[in-house]
Amino acid sequence: MESQKKVLERLRAAFRSGVTVPHQFRLTQLEALLSLLEDNETQILEALHKDLAKPKFEAVLSEIDLVVNDVCFAISNLHTWMQPTYVGTNLATKLDDCFVRREPLGVVLIIAAWNYPLQLILCPLIGAIAAGNCAILKPSEITSATEKLLSELIPKYLSQECFAVICGGAEETKLLLENRFDHIFYTGSQAVARSILRAAAVHLTPVTLELGGKCPCLLFGRLDIKAAARRLVWAKYFNVGQSCVAPDYVLCTTEMRDALLPAITEALEGFYGSQIQQSEDYGRIVTDRHWERLMELLGKSEGKVVIGGEGAKEEKYIAPTVIVDLQESDALMQEEIFGPILPIITVESLEQGIDFVNQREKPLALYIFSDESQIVNTVLERTSSGGFCSNDGIIHMTLPGLPFGGVGASGMGSYHGRWTFETFSHRRGCMLRGWGLERISMLRYPPYQERNLSWLRWATTAKKKAWGGCSVM
Ligand code: NAD
Repeated sequence: MESQKKVLERLRAAFRSGVTVPHQFRLTQLEALLSLLEDNETQILEALHKDLAKPKFEAVLSEIDLVVNDVCFAISNLHTWMQPTYVGTNLATKLDDCFVRREPLGVVLIIAAWNYPLQLILCPLIGAIAAGNCAILKPSEITSATEKLLSELIPKYLSQECFAVICGGAEETKLLLENRFDHIFYTGSQAVARSILRAAAVHLTPVTLELGGKCPCLLFGRLDIKAAARRLVWAKYFNVGQSCVAPDYVLCTTEMRDALLPAITEALEGFYGSQIQQSEDYGRIVTDRHWERLMELLGKSEGKVVIGGEGAKEEKYIAPTVIVDLQESDALMQEEIFGPILPIITVESLEQGIDFVNQREKPLALYIFSDESQIVNTVLERTSSGGFCSNDGIIHMTLPGLPFGGVGASGMGSYHGRWTFETFSHRRGCMLRGWGLERISMLRYPPYQERNLSWLRWATTAKKKAWGGCSVM
């Protein structure tokens, strides 16, 4: 097998040759990626089923089609994205061409997590290609069937000079990180993110961190409780709760909780029938180790299980579980759950709910379910999170127009659609000057004179507009 060093040298040489820069090359590679997805849908679905027992419906929506939409969006917009953005000038630079040029960064490293093993590696790749970079992909070793399939398909469809897949776990990734990259795009846990940042610091490599955390779901005011329960149950138990943007816990009043519980039971039965373990629409926990962690967490919790709670290790099955009457100090409230267990925390008011959220790390997503727009707006204005969605969960991340990423402990940087292209581009500020307006240019030269300073200030200072904002002339 080719060593990591050799792969990197090959990609570096390709990048230096400038092959990735032309629009046509980027377009061809994006189209090849689209063909990879279209030609191999069956194999992809099989791999995702092997790894996570992902139902076809979920795999198509959240893995294949999400990536297909993102590639198509990039293909349609690539030409526009690559155009320079012209900026305003002042009197002293009136005759100059001043623009922002998006340039590729070089050889980038994309490290992905296992919960959406196709989407999490290919969505960043789309932006890396669109921006004209070479890329090394490091899929998660935990979802080994998808990892293997990607390592076979990527070299078959994409330029081997410019793109490579490196397989392996923590040890291989640590080795890889000893090399210098021009950007590292990491999706995974907060704990590992710290070691990624340390490794990046050695080479001063810029980093995007797509992390997790505890995403709250608040329910307050008037709402259609049955519809709310359906949307909450769908967002929580989709991919068996193994979504970085799954609602981690619910915050509501005691009255709301009492109305919500029967509605959750009804929604679960409607979705998966009375024998959930037999339902083909409900996936599995990724490994025995992850299953044990979740069942241990459940065992340590001092809350009361009111729905579900059962598990079957041989099948890596955990029933959709809802738990109430837990304290803030409960084991389930100390870390991201990342599985099908939903604690419901009761508070006395919306005010208390907002305080509860604001006393903790900023989450990746925040959800508020309410019919009252004033409540939705209050939560939007008084909290901070990577993304925000009212009256639904997860859905906001499917729109390529919205940046997807965390804030604070839930991550840094964002992607999807144009945002991925921006993440993998250097925005080079360019000024193409001629020799005009020399009389103004001369004002800056020594010997300095008060009169020239006044002229220069007048020619270069942003002018205040009547409405109070500033603008450059
Ligand atoms: P993880 O951190 O264990 O693994 C992620 C990647 O890092 C894998 O490719 C793995 O091989 C590699 N890795 C593992 N240990 C390493 C080490 N010591 N040094 C270098 N690399 C190492 O994360 P995970 O369990 O795969 O993912 C779960 C977490 O990811 C959750 O917190 C979840 O919320 C988060 N997540 C975030 C997003 C997002 O878009 N923000 C998406 C999916 C998952």
